[in-house]
Amino acid sequence: MRVSSALRAFASPFLAASPSLPPHLNPRHHPVVYSPGYSPASWPEKHAFPMSKFADTFKHLSERRVPSLQGPLILDPGHVFSPVPAPPADLLSPPHDADYVERFLSSSLSPSEAATIGFKGDLISQVVPRTLAEISGTCLALSLALEFGLSSSVAGGTHHAFPGRGSGYTVLNDLAVAAHWAIKDPAVPAERVLVVDLDVHQGDGTAAFSRLPQLRGRLLTLSLHGADNFPLRKEESTWDVPLPTGAGDEEYMAALKPALERAVEEGRPDAVLYDAGVDALGEDRLGKLSLTPGGLRERDRHVIGYVVGRGIPCACVVGGGYNRDLGRLAEMHSIVHYEAARVWRERKMYKRSSS
Ligand SMILES: [Zn+2]
Repeated sequence: MRVSSALRAFASPFLAASPSLPPHLNPRHHPVVYSPGYSPASWPEKHAFPMSKFADTFKHLSERRVPSLQGPLILDPGHVFSPVPAPPADLLSPPHDADYVERFLSSSLSPSEAATIGFKGDLISQVVPRTLAEISGTCLALSLALEFGLSSSVAGGTHHAFPGRGSGYTVLNDLAVAAHWAIKDPAVPAERVLVVDLDVHQGDGTAAFSRLPQLRGRLLTLSLHGADNFPLRKEESTWDVPLPTGAGDEEYMAALKPALERAVEEGRPDAVLYDAGVDALGEDRLGKLSLTPGGLRERDRHVIGYVVGRGIPCACVVGGGYNRDLGRLAEMHSIVHYEAARVWRERKMYKRSSS
C-alpha cells in the first residue's frame, strides 16, 4: 500500500490504495474513487436497476477521449483511489439502526423488506458486498474532498435508505453514513455537511437521517426533485424544491441557482456531498423531467464551480439513472466526473494541494 504523504490520517480507514500519481502532481483531474466491487459480478440482465452501470461508467471514463483545455482526458486506472471493501463496522450504526444493519448483513431481512427495496430473493444477499464497497467509496471521497478540495466516486447516492429500512433500490444510506462519520469524528474538519441532492427522486431517506438528534442542524439536505415522482410520500428536507413534470433546462437552472445559494448561505456547511443523479434527463425511463445532456452538464458545472468557488470541499457521487441503453447511461454518468476534472484544471486545484 502506498499512502500519499499529503493524505491525513482520517482517510486511512477507507483507503486500500493510493494512485501512482498523487493529486498534487496531477494537473489533469481531481481525486477519483473507484472499486470493481461497486458492480456485482453477476446480476440479472433484465433487472430494473442497471447494476453494471458503475463498471460501465468507469470503463467509459478510462477509454473515451474527451477534449479538454489541456488535451484529452482519459482516466488512467492507475490514477484512481481504491476504497477498502467495507468501512469499519461501527460506522454503520449509528446512524443506521443496529438491528436493521445486522439483519441486512446476515441476509435475514424479511421478504417484504427485500421487496420494498426492490432486490427480491437472493439478490438482497448479492448486494451486501457492493453496498459496503460503495459506502467505503463515499467516505473516502468525502475525506479526499476535505484534503484536496474536490473528489468524486463512481458510485454512491443511495438516498432512499432510512435509519431502519431500505427502499427504492437502496439498502444503506452512503450519504448519511459518510456525513455522520465526518460530523462525529473530532479529527475530521467537518461539523456541518450539506447534501445537495439533484437526483430526480426526493432524498427522503437522507432527510429522515437529518432529523436524528445527533445529526439535527449538522446534516443539512437540499433536494430538487420531481413533485409527481417517487417517493409519493415526501419527507421534509432542510430545503425542498419540487419541480413540475416536464420541467426543462431553463426552469431547472432557475430553480437550482437560488436554492443552492440559500442552502450554502444559511447552512454554512464545512463540506458538500453532491448527488449528481442523471434521472432528471428527458431520456430517462423514470425521470418525468426534460433536461437535455447539455443542461445536465451545465447543472453539474454550476454546482461544483459554485461550491468549490466558495472554498467548500465538494465530494460528488453518481446517483440514479435508468436509461436501458447502458452505453448511453455510462456516458451520462461520466459527465459529473468530467465537469469535476474541468473545475480541477481551470482552478489549478492541484497547485493548491501541493502545500
Ligand atoms: Zn433517482
